[in-house]
Amino acid sequence: MVSKDSIKTKPARTPRHKMPEQLPVKRINNFDEVNLGYDSGIAVAEAQRCLQCAKPLCVEGCPVNIDIPHFINLIKEQEFRESIRTIKDYNILPAICGRVCPQETQCEGKCVLGKKFDPYKHEVLLSQVSDKEEDVR
Ligand code: SF4
Repeated sequence: MVSKDSIKTKPARTPRHKMPEQLPVKRINNFDEVNLGYDSGIAVAEAQRCLQCAKPLCVEGCPVNIDIPHFINLIKEQEFRESIRTIKDYNILPAICGRVCPQETQCEGKCVLGKKFDPYKHEVLLSQVSDKEEDVR
């Protein structure tokens, strides 16, 4: 039987999922974004690392106080459209902020996972779900 503790702690202990990138030999010849983005499966797996904290420090670290645990939970449930809507209730330019915000000192810097493990990868999912926003209107 799987213990409650192992269910709670295992996803957090999973190392942060590595972002697929263009190979250097390719990217020296173009101006495209280096990060290729997570596919849906990896995005969901990364979302499963979030502990859904009762007092989410990540939200305190966000200048516009996006309901981060809620949008992460919607990704976990594969409710990508609802996830984008949640973000856009707080921020109308998430695709830009997901790329340019200094998350390592804001939401990601405050994430409780960072005390022992890799912090949750906020900007990846923020930009990721936002890139799908034209499908959501
Ligand atoms: S602080 Fe980290 S683990 Fe906690 S709700 Fe925010 S993203 Fe999830």
